[in-house]
Amino acid sequence: RSLPHGAQGPAFYDSALTERLLREHELNDLFADSLKSGDFHVFLQPKVLLDGDRIAGAEALVRWHHPQRGMIYPSDFIPLFEKNEKICQLDLYVFEQVCLTLRRWIDSGLEPFPVSVNLSRRHFKQSDCLRPFEEIARRYRIPSGLLELELTESILFEDRAIETVKAQILEMHRMGFLCSLDDFGAGYSSLGLLMEFDVDSIKLDRRFFLRLSRRRSKDLVESIISLAHKIGAQTVAEGIETTDQLDFLREMGCDLVQGYVFSRPLPIPAFEDWMKNWPGRASDG
Ligand code: C2E
Ligand code: MG
Ligand code: MG
Ligand code: MG
Repeated sequence: RSLPHGAQGPAFYDSALTERLLREHELNDLFADSLKSGDFHVFLQPKVLLDGDRIAGAEALVRWHHPQRGMIYPSDFIPLFEKNEKICQLDLYVFEQVCLTLRRWIDSGLEPFPVSVNLSRRHFKQSDCLRPFEEIARRYRIPSGLLELELTESILFEDRAIETVKAQILEMHRMGFLCSLDDFGAGYSSLGLLMEFDVDSIKLDRRFFLRLSRRRSKDLVESIISLAHKIGAQTVAEGIETTDQLDFLREMGCDLVQGYVFSRPLPIPAFEDWMKNWPGRASDG
């Protein structure tokens, strides 16, 4: 294990807290240079339409490939960058990479599908936070309906008034973006509250599908899907790994599936290869 810059020896590791703080400090220091040198990479994971096995979308997931530290995953840096607002810069970078990719697909005659980008709740501290996204989408001339913004459900339960979130969703739609509610069911979900928001899709958290035999999880999944359809939203099941889960989701009437059963998140060139070979891969899971 390599020592962070400036660390002189084991004395610095006298507690887990010290180690964490050192690491956070180090990652913070590396951020600006890494962003400039292109060490953040956008991976894409397909969303597959259950009825017909068609690729109906993809999600952009960021990876940090540091030349010295190796691959760093979002769970190690997103929470940190959420504390100090660096996340806003990073999300915009990811968004621009997605726009670039969509523009390339359109120019090469590929039939594009919506690509979603995760938006940290930190953006919503300012009321005009969506403006830079609109500006980038316009610069790359991305037609409306091809960019989707994923908000985690927790955004609905913070100190923000429901009306404020509703206004932001309206603004997204005005800008031509689709809006998706991520990690639904992970924490605070309230089915009643769901009715309040005009989102285009709802992503059911993977923990719903871990123990399918449970009567309760079946009832719950079924009600969420039916409620989503009532408000005109698509349902996406996240983190699907097995064909048993696929059978269950077909039975439940779920629209889209995202998970290792179809593909892991892939670097963009690998994702493009994967698309070319579709649907040969569908049965691998
Ligand atoms: P998320 O948006 O809910 O993304 C889904 C996560 O599930 C991803 O983890 C994905 O790699 C993982 N996953 C996909 N299929 C499967 C599966 O079949 N099994 C399992 N066990 N996992 C699966 P990842 O890429 O590590 O990202 C974690 C979280 O970090 C994301 O959760 C999202 O909240 C956040 N994140 C990732 N990229 C960005 C970004 O560019 N901006 C922001 N603000 N957050 C991001
Ligand atoms: Mg997401
Ligand atoms: Mg999620
Ligand atoms: Mg709608």
